[in-house]
Amino acid sequence: MRPFIDHLTSARRASVPSVDQPGAPEDFPPVFPGGWRLGAEEESAVVEAIRRKRLFRYYGATEGKSCVEEFEEAFAARLGRRHALAVNSGSSALVCALIGAGVGPGDEVIIPAYSFVAVAGAVLVAGAVPVVADVDDSLNLDPADVAARMTADTRAVLAVHMRGAAADVPALLRTAAPRRVQVIEDVAQSCGGGLDGRPLGSLSGSAAFSLQYNKIITAGEGGVMVTDDEEAYQRALMFHDVNAGGRHKIADERVMLGLNLRMSELTGAVALAQLAKLDGILADLRRVKTTLLAEIGPSLERAGATRRRLLDPTGDAATNIIVFFPTPDAADRIRGALRANGIPVTPLYQPEKPDPHVYTSWPTLRTKKSWGANGPWQWHRGDVDSREAPRTLERLRRGLSLAISPDFTDQHIDRIARAFDKACLTLAP
Ligand SMILES: *Cc1c(COP(=O)(O)O)cnc(C)c1O
Repeated sequence: MRPFIDHLTSARRASVPSVDQPGAPEDFPPVFPGGWRLGAEEESAVVEAIRRKRLFRYYGATEGKSCVEEFEEAFAARLGRRHALAVNSGSSALVCALIGAGVGPGDEVIIPAYSFVAVAGAVLVAGAVPVVADVDDSLNLDPADVAARMTADTRAVLAVHMRGAAADVPALLRTAAPRRVQVIEDVAQSCGGGLDGRPLGSLSGSAAFSLQYNKIITAGEGGVMVTDDEEAYQRALMFHDVNAGGRHKIADERVMLGLNLRMSELTGAVALAQLAKLDGILADLRRVKTTLLAEIGPSLERAGATRRRLLDPTGDAATNIIVFFPTPDAADRIRGALRANGIPVTPLYQPEKPDPHVYTSWPTLRTKKSWGANGPWQWHRGDVDSREAPRTLERLRRGLSLAISPDFTDQHIDRIARAFDKACLTLAP
């Protein structure tokens, strides 16, 4: 691998891989939906930001609207939200949403046992204690289990829309609202998805998105917090920009000091270009998923597999096909057969293998280690030691996921379909 600087100095730009040079037809494209579609649009947007000598959102050597602000306006408009705040990561967006919602020391925040380690981390950074709850057959929070795990200290529920599909935010709101518990959406894995015609990220008080490289659209790193609530927005604004008080003329009595989690103009330029590609990416993801399901559905059914329940199939961002087999052993056998044929399916959980999406791989929940002695745990009066989510583990253990690229061709789909047919035969009675 050549150092990056060589790419710039050698002028041998043709050796930089581009989307115009796909590999052999049977090679699967890497599953980075937005990342694989980076191209001339992002390139010229970044060049333009540099030509303007304007790399900081709030000022620069030339005038004009900042890329970051333009991105925020476009993002908020797409979601029908009053405010969007661009930040440097999805984790930062989560912390801003929690801080915005008034979450702090002494509070509990309910999070899904199947989500991502960053979710637990964000809760701890906000000074609160994460409490895991089970997911159901939608692989998103089970509203009944959330209700069961609420205590007098529960301040918020983090509804993570996992792997493209909506969590039941309306049901969570019915449980949470009467107790004045806030619901915050984490849309890091489902940007562009919806529920009953409403975009994910617009269903609750506030939401967080990620633009990290693995997500549907990407700027390498980046995130967005959205809300309609003026107070939540101002709190997040102050938390993400240490000089926000002066910059936005916030009254001294209200000023709080946070960090600098601001988005760079270079990131904003890429994010804006990627946002323009989102609908195209979603259309292709959905087309590929529909075709694939039609092809592999019958053999899956013969193998006794059931599909992940989708609250709203139309709103599915279609990044994954997830199925559950009758037993862990069946899932393992199918996975082995598929991988032997070069199909990149992944297990949802293997007890012996750490996986940052599963709560058993978040050791902090057991060790209670955090910054400054034991941080949030010392401010917390309840007992969340014994919280486990066995139903989640049992379900995940039987699951397999196939990540979908919007750039799968008919040949890729054919190859996957043939491999599923063959693999499912190994389970036939
Ligand atoms: C990726 C991800 C995050 C964190 O986003 P970063 O941009 O990597 O900080 C948070 N929640 C979920 C569900 C994610 O998948």
